[in-house]
Amino acid sequence: MQLTNRSKVVSNKEQSFMESLYLPAIAKGMLITFSHLFKKTPTVKYPEQTRPRAAVYRGQHVLKRDENGAERCTSCGLCAVSCPAEAITMESAERKKGEENLYREEKYAKTYEINMLRCIFCGLCEEACPKEAIFLTDRIVDTEFEREDFIYGKDKLVETVTERIDVSKRQTLEVAEFKKIPGLKHNNVFEGKNLNKGKK
Ligand code: SF4
Ligand code: SF4
Repeated sequence: MQLTNRSKVVSNKEQSFMESLYLPAIAKGMLITFSHLFKKTPTVKYPEQTRPRAAVYRGQHVLKRDENGAERCTSCGLCAVSCPAEAITMESAERKKGEENLYREEKYAKTYEINMLRCIFCGLCEEACPKEAIFLTDRIVDTEFEREDFIYGKDKLVETVTERIDVSKRQTLEVAEFKKIPGLKHNNVFEGKNLNKGKK
C-alpha cells in the first residue's frame, strides 16, 4: 500500500553498451585521482611535522613557578572545584622553614594530579586559579598504552626552573592592564594597606 506520493524514481534508464563496459567511468575516476597528485597536500606527517597552534590553544597543563623559581600553587583547590570533569586531585602540605625558595605560599600542593583521560580541556581550572599557577599550553598530551600513564603528577606538570613555559600570550589585554597597577596585582601577597595605594 502506498502511504504517500512523495517517492520518485530517480532513473530507470537502461545502461548503454559503453556504460556496461565501465571503462569511461574508470578512466574518469583515475583522472580525478591523478589530478590530486599535483595538488598541495593538506595533511602533514605528524608527529615529525606539526602545524603551529594558537597561543590560546588549550592543551597540556603547566604548573608555573614564580620569577624566583618557587612553585606558585597554594593548593587552595579552586581549580579542582571548578573542574567539570573532576579531573584534578591534590594533597596539600604546610611549608616548612627554609622552604621559602621552593614554595611561594605557606601552603603548597604536596601532590597534584590531573587525569588527562577525564580532562575536556575547557580551561576553567586556569580561569579559577587566583595564583596564576595553572595554565593550559599549546602542548599535546602524549599518547600512552596504559590508562594510569594518563594521570599526570607534579613531575609532568610543574615547569622546570631552566625551561620556563611562556604563557604571557594567554592573558587578555584586561588582565595585562590590571597587572600594571602596583599593589593590585592579584598575585601579590595581600597587604591591606597596599590595596588602596595601588589605585591611580
Ligand atoms: S581543563 Fe577543564 S576539564 Fe581539564 S582539568 Fe581543567 S577544568 Fe578540568
Ligand atoms: S593551581 Fe591554582 S587554583 Fe589550583 S590549587 Fe593551585 S593555586 Fe589553587
